[in-house]
Amino acid sequence: MYIDGAWIETRKSFASRNPATGEILGSVPDGNEIQTRAAIDSAARAFPSWAGASAYLRSQLLFRAWQLMIERKEELARLMTEEQGKPLKMSRNEVVYGADFLQWYAEEAKRVCGQVIPSPRADQRFITLRQPVGVVAAITPWNYPMSMLTRKMAPALAAGCTLVLKPAEATPLCAMAIFKIFHDAGFPPGVVNLVTAFDPAPVGAEMVANPLVRKLTFTGSTAVGKRLASQASAHVKRVSMELGGHAPFIVCPDADPVHAAKGAGLIKGLNTGQACISPNRFLVHRPLVDGFVAELAGRTRKLKAGSGLDDTVSVGPLIDKVALGKVQRQVDDAVSKGAKVECGGHRLVEDGLDKGCFFAPTVLSGVTRDMLIWREETFGPVAPVIAYDDESEILALANDTEYGLAAYVYTPSLNLAMKLFEGLHFGIIGVNDINPTAVAAPFGGMKDSGLGREGGAEGISEYLETKLGGFAIS
Ligand code: ADP
Repeated sequence: MYIDGAWIETRKSFASRNPATGEILGSVPDGNEIQTRAAIDSAARAFPSWAGASAYLRSQLLFRAWQLMIERKEELARLMTEEQGKPLKMSRNEVVYGADFLQWYAEEAKRVCGQVIPSPRADQRFITLRQPVGVVAAITPWNYPMSMLTRKMAPALAAGCTLVLKPAEATPLCAMAIFKIFHDAGFPPGVVNLVTAFDPAPVGAEMVANPLVRKLTFTGSTAVGKRLASQASAHVKRVSMELGGHAPFIVCPDADPVHAAKGAGLIKGLNTGQACISPNRFLVHRPLVDGFVAELAGRTRKLKAGSGLDDTVSVGPLIDKVALGKVQRQVDDAVSKGAKVECGGHRLVEDGLDKGCFFAPTVLSGVTRDMLIWREETFGPVAPVIAYDDESEILALANDTEYGLAAYVYTPSLNLAMKLFEGLHFGIIGVNDINPTAVAAPFGGMKDSGLGREGGAEGISEYLETKLGGFAIS
């Protein structure tokens, strides 16, 4: 753990494992509410001088962290592949994406401006300041174990906040590597603090209850996010919640089904389906279904699963056995209600894959709304295809979910694209585009998918308060 500028050991520790092989990668301090309190105290002590430092100084340190992250790209990517499982090429992409947040917010730190607002009274002036909210508590997931940290840390630090972060128990070594960067970049003691823990509950409880914490930023499941948000409301703490998703992937009647299937295969394969923006329902106009399924299943069958350190592998393991069980249950439920397995549908155990948590990339056709997979987030490599008959059904089908994070639309028609862009209840819409995300763009969801946005100018606003001054002059 990293508290008040020093690396701390505890008597208890827990192991981090490689999900592709089950091998133990390292042992990590097992923290609880005591270390969390110490970390929050340290962040609170560091806050006045960090908030009072010039934006230029904060910017320089973030730039330095960006440089170090890029310099360490290969070692970070390798560690990520070993601890989280994604293929090395994808890990490299994530390191660069994660580093981008440091660079972008190093620039944005210098652009936090207030306003001078005209008053209705001649003897009055209105001025607003934008000031950091205070100590931030951050909780991050395992699926993007480096970029989800920098996506929170960079804007918080740029704004002038100090922070305490608890990473997912499955990927603590990735978090330690990121904090080593902040240490080496020269961030003052207490500005960034890391608490690792096998049991997240006591750490989370301290974060939401401690009055010194003014903001909670969480990325993870909807169930945990809702609980933390409701506890944080007791102190009227600000919250940002980036939660689950159930993205529709809509193939419109005028779309090219082969082109759409190519995009579908790429986005569904991302991180073995373990992404909150992963498409979870492929809504395809009935006359296009055969062509779409043939192309998607053909591409899916060719994917090779295995250790991400092998260059020929494009499908990594699921994070653990619980994840395997959930995916299998959804597939079995769909099949028992009439879905057809076009490819995959089972755990992979040949050639040593039984040591890890591998599920065969799967395409299901004939999926209907009574199946679990229609409603539950899968977080695995399963593409369920649902046929619809008329364009007029699209919006009702696509919006039939508690979630509202990402949606994808394939159509050459500008008119239809605009109609769906406006009518879909999701925070991110990819129109003929499977990658509608970037550091400069606001990322976040509606409904049960969350509150607030990360990335871009909106991302730093989450860590700023607006203060109004009314000046009476004579
Ligand atoms: P997932 O199903 O993706 O693992 P979780 O919501 O369980 O999603 O985990 C996301 C993050 O939330 C992780 O860092 C995890 O440790 C943390 N977490 C889980 N339960 C709690 C809790 N009760 N209090 C605080 N953090 C929690």
